[in-house]
Amino acid sequence: MAVRTNAHFQELKGSYLFSEVGRRIAAFQEKNPDRDIIRMGIGDVTRPIPQVIVDAMKRAADEVGTKEGFHGYGPEQGYLFLREAVAGYYQGFGVTVPPEDIFISDGAKSDLGNLGDIFDAECSVLVTDPVYPAYVDSAVMSGRKVFYAAATVENGFLPLPEEGMQGDIIFLCSPNNPTGAVMTREMLAQWVDFARKNGRLIVFDAAYECFIRDSGVPHSIFEIEGARECAMEICSFSKKAGFTGLRCGYTVVPHELMAGGISVRDLWFRRQSTRFNGTSYITQRAAEAVFTPEGEEAVEVNLEYYRENAAILSDMLTECGVKHTGGKNAPYIWMQCGTSEENVMDSWEFFDRLVEETGIVGTPGSGFGKGGEGYFRLTAFSTRKNTVEAAERMRRFFAAMK
Ligand code: PLP
Repeated sequence: MAVRTNAHFQELKGSYLFSEVGRRIAAFQEKNPDRDIIRMGIGDVTRPIPQVIVDAMKRAADEVGTKEGFHGYGPEQGYLFLREAVAGYYQGFGVTVPPEDIFISDGAKSDLGNLGDIFDAECSVLVTDPVYPAYVDSAVMSGRKVFYAAATVENGFLPLPEEGMQGDIIFLCSPNNPTGAVMTREMLAQWVDFARKNGRLIVFDAAYECFIRDSGVPHSIFEIEGARECAMEICSFSKKAGFTGLRCGYTVVPHELMAGGISVRDLWFRRQSTRFNGTSYITQRAAEAVFTPEGEEAVEVNLEYYRENAAILSDMLTECGVKHTGGKNAPYIWMQCGTSEENVMDSWEFFDRLVEETGIVGTPGSGFGKGGEGYFRLTAFSTRKNTVEAAERMRRFFAAMK
């Protein structure tokens, strides 16, 4: 038999959203080489990694250059020093997670994509619409059926479970990318309840938990009673500590979590020890430093910087009469593509016009799903200078629209 490709790749819609954004910017720049572009599209950070974390990395780098300090392949789940540090961080939310249930990885995206390996190919997926595209594309690549729960203005972009909702594996993301919406404990408890009653499994993406300010918003799904029996949680150092390039994340799979009488944690261990050889010792030492008092303090300075960026953008939109959400407990602002119901554009038209007229690049809401049509995502991860400049340019753009 001649080799054949995975036919499910043909079912993927167009290119990955951020590749398409990149393609359009490149085309614009080729035509307008002198235009000054402000990138608020891809959610990459701009603050450098704090010195205390860099110092930890340098020490680790020196260490591996010595006979005594050399580190080769590490333990399958990650070094205990980092798993214990993560467990300590959870304790701060009042959540006890044993280090045995924590798996260190090279980032949340890998784990989100790989977790499908341990579930039956027939298991379907439920996501919100709009949604972080990696959940959907990973499911499609492995031939899973995808169901959608509409995130709308009416439900505050936070759909709740309903009788008869389908989807065996439920992806929830709070604080949400792209809408910036956050679930309260009560909302999350409804999902946990639904999952337990209906034999579903929740994958809780907590990549943005560090941005939470309100005390009623849970940082972890394990703050909810009963979640250990129905959920796993994925988190990342990317946005918290500027590790988008360094790469480190972690996944918590409680030992209580069973599917069809089989331990999900044990399967994940098997999967990871077979197909993943760990993130580097140097990176794990850097991640450990994030949880030291000095690390936490330095990280908080950067998070506050991004929060202020979000406030600058949100204030500008309020002033211009543009409906929007997010920004308070999340680094994303989700805005309508116009100043009133009469002049709302579709998302890609707004993207093109905004680039054309202001040089600002955002992310079209429709790229996150049908439910994102007519919306646009801005990130708070730019530099302060660019954020202030973008706010000024957008102020003029919206004034001209009225
Ligand atoms: N989950 C969400 C919701 C994200 O927005 C992102 C990145 O933007 C990720 C996961 C991926 O994070 P990482 O850089 O750890 O792979």
